[in-house]
Amino acid sequence: MKEKINLKGLWIDDLEKLLEELGERTYKANQLASWIYDKGSTNFSQMTDLSKSLREKLSSIACIDTIRLIKAQTSELDFSKKFLFELRDGERIEAVLMWEDDRTTICVSTQVGCPLGCAFCATGKMGFKRNLTPGEIVDQILALKDHRPTHVVLMGMGEPLLNYENTIKALKIVNSELGLSFAGKRITLSTVGIPNMIKKLADLTWRIRLAISLNAPNDQKRSQLMPINKKYPLNTLLEAVKYYAKKKKLRLTFEYVLIKDFNDSEEDALELSKLVRGIPCKINLIPYNSVPDLPFEKPSEEKITAFRDYLYPRCPTVTLRKSKGEDIQAACGQLCTSIKS
Ligand code: SAH
Ligand code: SF4
Repeated sequence: MKEKINLKGLWIDDLEKLLEELGERTYKANQLASWIYDKGSTNFSQMTDLSKSLREKLSSIACIDTIRLIKAQTSELDFSKKFLFELRDGERIEAVLMWEDDRTTICVSTQVGCPLGCAFCATGKMGFKRNLTPGEIVDQILALKDHRPTHVVLMGMGEPLLNYENTIKALKIVNSELGLSFAGKRITLSTVGIPNMIKKLADLTWRIRLAISLNAPNDQKRSQLMPINKKYPLNTLLEAVKYYAKKKKLRLTFEYVLIKDFNDSEEDALELSKLVRGIPCKINLIPYNSVPDLPFEKPSEEKITAFRDYLYPRCPTVTLRKSKGEDIQAACGQLCTSIKS
């Protein structure tokens, strides 16, 4: 028997094509999309505004697959929650929910593992298994819909710009009013910064927020932490970043993981402030979250505050990220579903 087509992850143009093949009117694609993404339906029999014959045709050739929740953990420190999901082929990914003020943010994965192997990151240690499909990316949000997330960040496992087509397709669904209706300003893509992909993103007609994982104030230190920096050094990265900011008229975020005795000195702060001068940006400091078997440590509270206070008058906006879910390994860079031995 032919395997059924999974409709989750298909968008209006794909659904129109399918309807045409079934000899149906293409305008029904909007209704179908609204059932799958807005109402989160997984069963054709619920789609009562579609004719019975169409529902029967659809159930004979298609399905609406869902990822399977395996485990949910709640942090005792801040009540953030980590969710482990199993995909159709048995691979596993994680998503995280965090609460702050009136925001509920869902942190979503885009790959199983990550090929970039940053020295400080648990996902990087895991190695790369495969890209997520658009449906698997969207489904993390659909699965946690009852928590009513207000913001989506692509900061889970993987590098979204190395899974560009699937990530963009998923974001189209997340952004559209026929889909999950998250305004672009409520969606943030975090990336190490692949320059040609950032430019491609800048040329799209819709816009989302961009966060760049900078993590070091110069090429020498950044290459030690992030091997990708040897391929795309800071000058090419920052050129693409400026293009994005100008084209989209948006302020960017630079993420900077603070690591004890590596990038946490006053000189580092000064160099960092000079590096980003002239770029409309916010710097988000993330104190390092521990990862088993990695040699890095978080700086002391005094050192973290001193770094922030030194940076602050020299940069337009500096924020210090409160770590979430560190006790359940749900904090930045701690997501990992298996360690390669
Ligand atoms: N691959 C993308 C998105 C996932 S990583 C990226 O690198 O941007 C999300 C964020 O977690 C990045 O800013 C990364 O620098 C940070 N991160 C990774 N490991 C970390 C750790 N151990 N402690 C704190 N932040 C970490
Ligand atoms: Fe991949 Fe991001 Fe981790 Fe680097 S920090 S290994 S790019 S997930």
